Amino acid sequence: MEKTENKRKHLRQRLEERKHRRQGAMLTPAEIREHLDKYVIGQEQAKITLSVAVYEHLQALAAREKENLAPDSVRLPKNNILLFGPTGCGKTHLLNQVAKVAGVPFLEVNAPAYSPTGYKGTNISHILEELLAKTHGDARQAERAIIFFDELDKKASKPGIQSFPDAAYCAEFQHDLLKMVEGATYEVGDEHLDTSGILFVMAGAFVGLDQVVRRRLEREQPAPVKRLGFAAPAVTAKINARVNAKADAQADAQEGCQAKPAGAQAKAADLLAQVTPEDFVEYGIITELTGRTPVLCRILQLTTEELVRIMTDGRESILRAYEGLFNAMNVDLAFTPEALREVAERARKRKMGARALNAILEQLLAPFISDYEDEDGLRRTLTITAAYVRGQGKAQVAINATQTVNDPENGV
Ligand code: ADP
Repeated sequence: MEKTENKRKHLRQRLEERKHRRQGAMLTPAEIREHLDKYVIGQEQAKITLSVAVYEHLQALAAREKENLAPDSVRLPKNNILLFGPTGCGKTHLLNQVAKVAGVPFLEVNAPAYSPTGYKGTNISHILEELLAKTHGDARQAERAIIFFDELDKKASKPGIQSFPDAAYCAEFQHDLLKMVEGATYEVGDEHLDTSGILFVMAGAFVGLDQVVRRRLEREQPAPVKRLGFAAPAVTAKINARVNAKADAQADAQEGCQAKPAGAQAKAADLLAQVTPEDFVEYGIITELTGRTPVLCRILQLTTEELVRIMTDGRESILRAYEGLFNAMNVDLAFTPEALREVAERARKRKMGARALNAILEQLLAPFISDYEDEDGLRRTLTITAAYVRGQGKAQVAINATQTVNDPENGV
């Protein structure tokens, strides 16, 4: 009898554990990372940082729920995140996946679309209305969310780094945002929504941040000996030498930084590796908001190899989607490895990260789709070659994989 009762107890425990696991409460950072590895190519350091930050978010939520917000309970500090790096390289994608595996609501907000309270335009407090709509009016669920605040750099208040119409306006917007990030209770419709448990992720490309870091490093150098008239240039040279030392090693990893020669890119990458919260303040993010986002997480440019993998690997790869489309047209779609590299290379040069891949592939494949006619019912293989991607040759169309015709004009 006792045995059966113990068995039941054990089973109940197991079920309870599983329930928690489903809600993400018991996920470990390793499990979060494992999920990210399935969907996100590269960005290894960001995956580590985010999986730890999100693990802590889940732990904090679990602790709050356990204590049932007992007034004297000690709350874990909230580690909001500042995510910076080039466009199209996975900032939104990473956070989307993180929220999915964590099982918490996710809201993506585009900072430029909002204005401070009292201004015309979409008021910042509307964000919470959107969040509540996402959770179908469930305020308690909304309080567990991750809010991803994209393009915060467009609301940075330092004219001169980028051109902003109104620095005071940007600072006011940031103060409104700060209130929400610090945690306050808002009236949203009939609900009261407390934002203190929400994890905020601020993101942006922060173009020119490397130069802010460079200027700080120059300032931080020990004061030059006065009688040496050229002390300042010497200091700059010293910093340059330090920065250049790693340049070659970084050039490979950072081959995705376009528009600048490889050495210059590496220097920028090396400078960004030394970024501090003060640099964001210098860029125009108010000190208090920087203080509330202590986790700095850098997103790197995607390399050619990573762009190839984004096309081919993963459950949601764009090539898989095209293969499916062509399959329905009775065609096997194939890319030579050189063609894939060529597509990735072209995408890299467009400075839009993985976003450029879609546009390039669509341009390459659209002629075959538009001219599609399955007159004879024979299965064909369409092979895209590097020459075709470069516009110097024709794609190969093989009927039944035996007879090859080069005929891109007429489609497959
Ligand atoms: P941003 O950094 O501007 O937020 P996104 O995350 O929105 O860029 O990237 C745009 C799209 O490109 C994503 O939806 C995703 O399909 C793809 N993508 C970007 N970076 C990666 C990556 N590292 N791994 C896999 N896919 C990626």
